[in-house]
Amino acid sequence: MPKPPCDAYTHWLIHHTAPEFLREEGLPPEVWLQQLWRHQRIRRDQLRTVDGRRLSVLHPGFWNREAGPDFQRAVLQYEGELSVVGDVEIDLSVSGWRGHHHQGNPAYRRVILRVVWRARPSETTAGEVRDKEPPVLELEPVLDAPLSELTNWLSCEAPWRLPASTAGMCAGPLRVVSSQEAHRILEQAARSRLARKGSEFEAQARQHGWEQVLWEGLFAALGYKHNAWPMRRLAEVLRPGGPGMASRTWTHLETVQGRVFGLSSFLSSAVTRPSTYWRSLWDVWWRERHEFEGMELPGSVWRWSGIRPINHPHRRLALAAHWLQMTTLGTQLETWITQRLDQSAAAESLMTILQPRQADPYWSKHWTLTSARLERSLPLLGAARATDLAMNVILPWFWVRATLARNDALRARVEERYLEWPAGEDNAVLRLARDRLFGGVRPNLPRTAAIQQGILQVVRDFCDRSDSRCTGCQFPELMRALSG
Ligand code: SF4
Repeated sequence: MPKPPCDAYTHWLIHHTAPEFLREEGLPPEVWLQQLWRHQRIRRDQLRTVDGRRLSVLHPGFWNREAGPDFQRAVLQYEGELSVVGDVEIDLSVSGWRGHHHQGNPAYRRVILRVVWRARPSETTAGEVRDKEPPVLELEPVLDAPLSELTNWLSCEAPWRLPASTAGMCAGPLRVVSSQEAHRILEQAARSRLARKGSEFEAQARQHGWEQVLWEGLFAALGYKHNAWPMRRLAEVLRPGGPGMASRTWTHLETVQGRVFGLSSFLSSAVTRPSTYWRSLWDVWWRERHEFEGMELPGSVWRWSGIRPINHPHRRLALAAHWLQMTTLGTQLETWITQRLDQSAAAESLMTILQPRQADPYWSKHWTLTSARLERSLPLLGAARATDLAMNVILPWFWVRATLARNDALRARVEERYLEWPAGEDNAVLRLARDRLFGGVRPNLPRTAAIQQGILQVVRDFCDRSDSRCTGCQFPELMRALSG
């Protein structure tokens, strides 16, 4: 998103069309509260929660723009207590906590502070600030400047400026090393990630065989981070020759989709106005479900928060049903890896292998089993998911097999594809990692999926073992050693 201009025109607009709340003592937009907390535009030495406790903010946490609390991994210290790590939720009022049903929501169980604009006296006395709920801090009384003065800054600068608290201790040393050095170290981290994924596959293959491990890996990757486990469980049931597959034919698409959706428990809840497609799946499942007894997943295993419509589990299952029909998927992948292809041809060819073989009239026009029909068509598999499948499953699986077989030529080809594969979709973890590692400066690095994998591996090996303040992290030391 391009940064809006902050010129004389914009300033005039802000001052002459001042938000209503400045004139009427109303409430500012919640996103302003987030920016004030994010940049700590508060008198940090004068913080007290509404129940009177003195509070020090050792780190405000990282701004979360996805589902869940607004700031994650904050480090706070309440008077007379040890520092605590947890999340911070921003709300306009104290009643927002219950109004938004955060109490009892597992995503909010690590909240250690609620930051509100102001608490009405009735809210602090009438039980809104309850014993077992996170303490509350009012923002308005502790701003470091009048809000009328902060308005320009909030509108023009705050959203675009990276707070000093975001950059990690490694940002300085990383700025000093050359881009070639940074590239080299991130590629080494990516290779380390490839080897670790490969050895996980090797361990699983000892129990279940190589084919099953690939199958489970592909299914789990379709579940993305939220639903990897239910998808993996389905792959266990629906593996070639497995309990769900035995002695059944898997050629008719709606029959396969009826079994897959039935096993996933998506056909068990009542639908008020079922579509013809839903009915056809139900007809299959109603006839066959006794044969799958004990294999059905409980509905509670699926997670729905923070999922974009394009990644909805229903769509992922529809694609998995197409794969179940393909008896030659494994053979095609074996051919693909042995072919000499340039990088774009390799990516295109993999997309073709993983695409459904036949038209899917329902899923090309619907987000979910019960959603309205769309005007435009949607592919069941996009380039971003194919990259994810290649980098996290297919290439590590081939790499470890080539390594164990001492097939150096094949191993070199897998590594070449891995290192040159075009970058995949950006995501919140990568964005935060780049902000922390490079301190908001855009690094001059190739746009490859391997660089993304390398950054994720640094997060796994260093950031995840430290805290928001980088306590005890050795990565800056490693960077300093590299830069001499
Ligand atoms: S924890 Fe380590 S690797 Fe992560 S941002 Fe801090 S210094 Fe960098």
